[in-house]
Amino acid sequence: MTRTPLVAGNWKMNGLAGHLVEAQAIAAGAAVHAGACEVMLCPPATLLSRLADAVSGTAVTAGGQDCHANATGAHTGDVAAPMLADAGARAVILGHSERRADHGETDADVRAKVAAAHGAGLVAIVCVGETEAQRDAGQALDVVRSQLAGSLPDEGVSGASVVVAYEPVWAIGTGRTPVEEDIAEVHGAMRAALTARYGAETGGAIRLLYGGSVKAGNAVSIAGVADVDGALVGGASLKAADFLPIVEAFA
Ligand code: PEP
Repeated sequence: MTRTPLVAGNWKMNGLAGHLVEAQAIAAGAAVHAGACEVMLCPPATLLSRLADAVSGTAVTAGGQDCHANATGAHTGDVAAPMLADAGARAVILGHSERRADHGETDADVRAKVAAAHGAGLVAIVCVGETEAQRDAGQALDVVRSQLAGSLPDEGVSGASVVVAYEPVWAIGTGRTPVEEDIAEVHGAMRAALTARYGAETGGAIRLLYGGSVKAGNAVSIAGVADVDGALVGGASLKAADFLPIVEAFA
C-alpha cells in the first residue's frame, strides 16, 4: 500500500499577520517536494483564511486546529467545521492532547467532531497518545488503542478522510522523543487496530503521523520507522528554516 507522506505544521496559539511570510517561505521551499510529500499548515483560526490565500496555488494546504461538533448554533467562541472549510481549510486537527487537557475533551467529543469534520468535507487528523505516567506504567499501547477506538466513528472512515497522529503527551514541546522501537511498536499496533476495525484496504490506507518534538535533527530517523507516514510538527513548524528540512526528510 503506497501512502503519500504528510507533514503538517500545528502553529497552536502562535502567529499574527506578519507570520504569513513564513507560510509563503514554506510554500516556496516545499514546491520541489510536490507529489512526494503533502505539506499542510494549521494556523490559529484568526489567520486561517489569510494563510489559505497566501499558499493558494502552491503545494501547501491549510488546516484548522479544532472544530465544534455542531455545524451552527449558540456556541460563543467556537468554530464550526463548515466555517473552517469556508475559510479555506482542507483538514482539521482533532483531539490534540492540549485540547483534551485544557478543554476536557473526551474520546466521545473527538468522535463527534470527526463526524462534523467529515460533514464539512474536511480530513480529520485525529491525535492520540499516552502520558508519561501511562508509559511508565506499561499502558501506552492500551491507552492508544482505547483512544483510537473511542475517537473514530464507525462510518465515513477512509484513507482520504482520516489521518491518525500518534503524539505521546510527554514528547510534545519537551525535546524528548520515544526511541524508534517504541514508535514502531505503537504505529504497528495502530495499523493492526485500524485494519481489524475497518478492513485491510482502509486500515492500510490511513496515514499514521508521528508527533512530538520532531526537528530537523531527528526527522530522517523518524521518517525511516515502519508505518510512520509523516509528522505532526508543533514548534518546528513556525519557521521555514526549521520546517523545510523536516518536509525534505519525509519526501
Ligand atoms: C504538537 O503539539 O502537535 C507537537 C507535535 O508539538 P512539538 O512538535 O512542539 O512537540
